[in-house]
Amino acid sequence: MNFDQLGLIEPILRALQEEGYSKPTPIQAEAIPSILQGSDIIGCAQTGTGKTAAFALPILQRLHTHGRPTPRRSCRTLVLSPTRELASQIRESFKTYGRYLPFTSTSIFGGVPIGRQIRDIGKGFDIIVATPGRLLDLINQRALTLEAVEILVLDEADQMLDMGFIHDIRKIVGMI
Ligand code: AMP
Repeated sequence: MNFDQLGLIEPILRALQEEGYSKPTPIQAEAIPSILQGSDIIGCAQTGTGKTAAFALPILQRLHTHGRPTPRRSCRTLVLSPTRELASQIRESFKTYGRYLPFTSTSIFGGVPIGRQIRDIGKGFDIIVATPGRLLDLINQRALTLEAVEILVLDEADQMLDMGFIHDIRKIVGMI
């Protein structure tokens, strides 16, 4: 099985080739076709097995094939992550795999001044990777809405729930 047999488009295949990925990992081979079709999925795999690309690649492709303008003060894809480190890594992965596509992305997390994030979000993003608490702060300050979200990812969902984010996640899901 190769990446092109999964139905991925050329700009994504080119980025993967440059990264030196020759074959999809098992979770990628299973998840990518389902996500491309628009199914909701739950994926379980150990760390280091290529989970991030398993969702990032088909999401990039769907953003491309269902082309819409970048929404102001909102995003088309929202990825929730339990920690700021993971949020930054996921955002980097979207940049790497999406380098031949025109999508904008950012990561949003607490512990850094909120003013600059509020200014940046005004123009909107195609992809936002966020920790739940800071995301809700921005929504409460009316800097951000979730009205344009088409795709939602809960990364490390088990860890997020263990960390007590269930109420925040319910609120966020309720707004989408
Ligand atoms: P992840 O499980 O998403 O944290 O990915 C673990 C590591 O595997 C990352 O460094 C990726 O760059 C790399 N990786 C992901 N998918 C592949 C693949 N199909 N072939 C080779 N390396 C990969």
